[in-house]
Amino acid sequence: MNALDFRFHTGALSTDFVATVGRRLAGGLERLTSPARLTEWLAGAGVDVAGRQVSSRELQQAQDLREAIYRLLLSRIAQGQATAQQQAATADIRAVNSWARKRPATPQLADDGSFALQKLVGEDAGTALGVIARDAIDVVTGERAAYLRACEAGDCGMLYLDLSQGLTRRWCSMTECGNRAKVAAHRARRKEGAAS
Ligand SMILES: [Zn+2]
Repeated sequence: MNALDFRFHTGALSTDFVATVGRRLAGGLERLTSPARLTEWLAGAGVDVAGRQVSSRELQQAQDLREAIYRLLLSRIAQGQATAQQQAATADIRAVNSWARKRPATPQLADDGSFALQKLVGEDAGTALGVIARDAIDVVTGERAAYLRACEAGDCGMLYLDLSQGLTRRWCSMTECGNRAKVAAHRARRKEGAAS
């Protein structure tokens, strides 16, 4: 997988959105590098804006909302673990609330009788950001909060929902961080073996 590829495997729309920055604990890798990339992400996430152009202002708004959601989810994890009391910042709560108030797009049936949803026409990126903000609120207030985790890899920190049986998932992905950790552990064991 390319480092700039979008990740859609974190278990929730809002955590997938947060994952548009990779390697957060190693300086961060911005994957929403242009308005077109945001359009691409929204399409991949199923909240597309019907081919409407995303402006650079909307990209900035999306990035701001994303970071507010990231910090909010982190505080939620900290609260769940009852470690250091890390309270969510009021500014972040207000930012997420403000987007969540965006009027949702009304579902419409396609008029060709196919029982498909009509493509949304004229919706803007803000409508999509509203959908993401509402998902974030649902994650931190609902049942999904108990499954919220941060990847244990030292340079990653990607947030995801642990939906594994037994709730034992430690990494954002077994093929990436999980695999790296396994290889590192194997190397360490071999080194130990060689030293003794
Ligand atoms: Zn990871």
